Amino acid sequence: MVDANGRSVGRSMRILVTGGAGFVGSHLCERLLADGHDVIALDDFSTGSPANVAHLMRSSRFWLVEHDATQPFDYEIDRVYNLASPASPARYQCDPVRTAITNVVGTLNALSCAERHGARLLQASTSEVYGDPEVHPQPESYLGRVNPIGVRACYDEGKRCAESLVMDFHRQGRASGRIARIFNTYGPRMAIDDGRAVSNFIVQALRGEELTVYGSGSQTRSFCYIDDLVEGCVRLMEHPVELGPVNLGNPVEVTVLELAQEIVRLTGSASRIAFRPLPEDDPRQRRPAIELARRSLGFEPRVALRQGLYATIQSFRSALSGLGELPRRGEPAMAS
Ligand code: NAD
Ligand code: UDP
Repeated sequence: MVDANGRSVGRSMRILVTGGAGFVGSHLCERLLADGHDVIALDDFSTGSPANVAHLMRSSRFWLVEHDATQPFDYEIDRVYNLASPASPARYQCDPVRTAITNVVGTLNALSCAERHGARLLQASTSEVYGDPEVHPQPESYLGRVNPIGVRACYDEGKRCAESLVMDFHRQGRASGRIARIFNTYGPRMAIDDGRAVSNFIVQALRGEELTVYGSGSQTRSFCYIDDLVEGCVRLMEHPVELGPVNLGNPVEVTVLELAQEIVRLTGSASRIAFRPLPEDDPRQRRPAIELARRSLGFEPRVALRQGLYATIQSFRSALSGLGELPRRGEPAMAS
């Protein structure tokens, strides 16, 4: 149950978050603890880091477990948020077979754990299930256009298979499932080297390097701030009825070139924009249709792109200062 502000109300639950030390997972764990739940974060630290949840370790209601989700696991829990999977194309293509296995076997393990304990599972699915879409914006009813043998297939098809597992467990009455189709999400604690557009552009702008725009930059994405996404995930998990897949994202669409230009402006950087080859199978357009989430969950993204980018830039500035790459606040800038 959630109240009018989307806060969980009622009994405190025991919640497992696979991929809990990643970007989205760490924010979700923070939110669930704030709502009064016990939280177990399970992670193999392949793309996430214990540092992302270091601030939660003081809580006696938080546990961090190092474990590979492709190996069975078992916890007495009421809810499972299944997030374990690399999310950045650069990272998930590094070891594509492992990406596919993590999404398929990892999801099966999470579902089996939910089944054993009568728990509900929310699957972190993705807009990538729509592939390079011919329907725009993308509603949940659109079946997608994924290249099943392309370089993104390990992730796209892995996530599609994971959705089918969730639905089959649900139809067989083995575990209650929710599917969040998450569109591009950004915010503090994205890994500085994870290769996604927002993190790459911010780091490049802060370092005074060229911003690497792939292709002409005319491809579009719709960027959702992390707090809005977490709100949507919690509302979806606690919705009393299984709704089928639900898109979660911000429907404001920008070109990748516009994103790069906005980041240059907001950082006050002197960096130039450099164009690089477009990766294979890079979707040309992407924008979520969020009517189902609005109607059923009262979901409404609140953080405007400029505002969210500003907060993200601040956090990257401190992360790079911590690495000694940028002057700390109040310190003089290095002469070059
Ligand atoms: P992330 O890489 O920061 O987090 C993923 C986490 O999963 C990391 O901590 C990683 O170490 C962990 N992990 C990976 N494989 C694992 C395994 N075999 N066992 C245990 N842990 C493992 O990425 P993110 O952006 O936080 O994404 C989280 C989830 O949300 C992913 O499932 C992703 O597919 C989904 N998603 C994210 C976005 C986005 O824009 N951020 C968009 C769509 C879907
Ligand atoms: N992109 C880019 N430069 C970068 C990283 C990404 O131009 O340094 C582009 C990428 O080709 C894609 C868009 O930005 O068109 C979003 O990429 P990201 O990896 O963030 O997520 P995707 O939506 O592709 O999963």
